[in-house]
Amino acid sequence: MGYQHGGAGQGFLPPPARPASPKFLWIGCSDSRVPADRITNTEPGEIFVHRNVANMVVHTDMNLLTVLEYAVKVLEVEHILVVGHYGCGGVKAAMGNQNLGIINPWLKHIKDVYRFHKEEIDALEGADQQVDRLIELNVKEQVMNLAKTITVQEAWHKHKRPYLHGWVYGLKDGLINPVFDMDPGTHIDPLYEYNL
Ligand SMILES: [Zn+2]
Repeated sequence: MGYQHGGAGQGFLPPPARPASPKFLWIGCSDSRVPADRITNTEPGEIFVHRNVANMVVHTDMNLLTVLEYAVKVLEVEHILVVGHYGCGGVKAAMGNQNLGIINPWLKHIKDVYRFHKEEIDALEGADQQVDRLIELNVKEQVMNLAKTITVQEAWHKHKRPYLHGWVYGLKDGLINPVFDMDPGTHIDPLYEYNL
């Protein structure tokens, strides 16, 4: 669909014909090259979207937690997709030592993922290969972070949904690499399981 260049009183996009009842929540990177609808060829109303730098699920991020709660409890989404992309600048920056000021604490969460898997990543040859492996492992970690939220644990307990998926999108080939899945009810480290 093309954009309409409207005059006074006209929107840029035609309004969707149906009320929104998306079955998917997309948690993706803010990078302008990875828009959820273009990648999945979906129409307005089909995907509920949250984006931040390097597609993170941070447990103190009220923005993410609010989107997640609304998607799971009100929209009753069946699937949550955490979608990273190869060559992610946020992940690349987290592997380096540049002082990025107010961005530093956000990237610290990615540094932690690097630290968990440092041996495996550092054993790879080539800086790009190392970044791309951390991008995959980071997506997996963020899916596991979703499973640690009370929102997901309650929904799994009561409704046997949502399914969680971790994907990495290839900017060069347009292909999606599915790297990790969690079905409803999957047991996680008991330390993170709440009594329900
Ligand atoms: Zn990115």
